[in-house]
Amino acid sequence: MTPFTYARARDAGDAVRLVALADASYLGGGTNLVDLMRETVARPAALVDVTGLSSAIEARPDGSILIGAAARNTAVAEHHAVRQRFPLLSRAIVSGASAQIRNMATVGGNILQRTRCTYFYDNEGSRCNKREPGQGCDAIGGFNRMHAVLGASSACIATHPSDMCVALAALGAIVHLQGAGGARSLPLTGLHRLPEDHPERDTELAPGELITAIELPPLPFATRSAYRKVRDRSSYAFALVSVAAALDVDGGIVRDVRLALGGVAHKPWRAWKAEGTLKGQPASIDSFRAAAAAELADATAQSGNGFKIGLAQRTMVAVLQGLAGREDQP
Ligand SMILES: Cc1cc2nc3c(=O)[nH]c(=O)nc-3n(C[C@H](O)[C@H](O)[C@H](O)COP(=O)(O)OP(=O)(O)OC[C@H]3O[C@@H](n4cnc5c(N)ncnc54)[C@H](O)[C@@H]3O)c2cc1C
Ligand code: SF4
Repeated sequence: MTPFTYARARDAGDAVRLVALADASYLGGGTNLVDLMRETVARPAALVDVTGLSSAIEARPDGSILIGAAARNTAVAEHHAVRQRFPLLSRAIVSGASAQIRNMATVGGNILQRTRCTYFYDNEGSRCNKREPGQGCDAIGGFNRMHAVLGASSACIATHPSDMCVALAALGAIVHLQGAGGARSLPLTGLHRLPEDHPERDTELAPGELITAIELPPLPFATRSAYRKVRDRSSYAFALVSVAAALDVDGGIVRDVRLALGGVAHKPWRAWKAEGTLKGQPASIDSFRAAAAAELADATAQSGNGFKIGLAQRTMVAVLQGLAGREDQP
């Protein structure tokens, strides 16, 4: 591991100031960053610990929830208002990692965790454009069972690994930021990037920008929502495919729907095409199949991951059917 200094930020302004002083990284729970430092994939000269910043979870009367970026994953998943208003978020978080890791991991760190592409972590033996721009990508034509089928480029086919972010994408979460130039906000769906020619850039964040909070806008029909994760073993594994969904059915017709996919792209994938296809249609298996097919129409397979295209569609249909089937329950 490369030597580094450590400082603990007192507040958001202090964190932004400290990170600008050196080639520094923010430190949340460290469950991803410290692994990357051990592998020398990340070599920050300084760590600015932001776990002392806001971890408050504020359930507002209008139905929204504001969550401080230092809130631990477990605290968010277990919060009564999150479970009541946005159950898919709670389920997405609990489906990830292990209880110990979720106890350490923060919301900010979860959003900015890096891909689990094994070639990215193999600093000694593999070529990786995300780690070393221009080097090449050993996943293309290599072991790419876990890799992207939507939005990939000839430079990188990695996926974003977070479960939590898939639920946040479906919910239209807003990310609040603080940088040297002041505060701003971005929709979560606009925070992460597709790889294009610059896979070394995971997000649209400016250097040194700090995530201070996420906001979940009111979405009354999200009380009927689900998160389903398909993986190679039943715990402690990243998603092959995951689906976050909320469904609003009125008189057998889909009045509104939110859908996002995980495990399929370089970013949490909001299924805008499927949503557009479904709205106003009967809440039937034929409509669900048509919506899933529309979303995956542009999918492209690598040598080892073609199964994901059908799997994503079947998982979307199954989740929507489950939600529609609960229509008459109180
Ligand atoms: C064995 C294992 C299994 C896992 N399985 C899953 C899984 O199934 N599903 C899943 O979703 N995740 C999984 N994870 C990943 C885990 O969720 C992440 O490691 C965790 O969420 C990262 O949070 P952290 O606070 O520890 O981030 P850190 O490791 O501290 O930081 C991660 C990144 O975020 C940056 N950062 C942290 N906070 C901020 C902030 N406020 N503003 C700006 N930048 C910030 C850091 O600089 C760093 O670049 C797994 C991890 C492990 C080790
Ligand atoms: S898929 Fe992306 S992260 Fe993986 S080796 Fe290729 S460039 Fe690197």
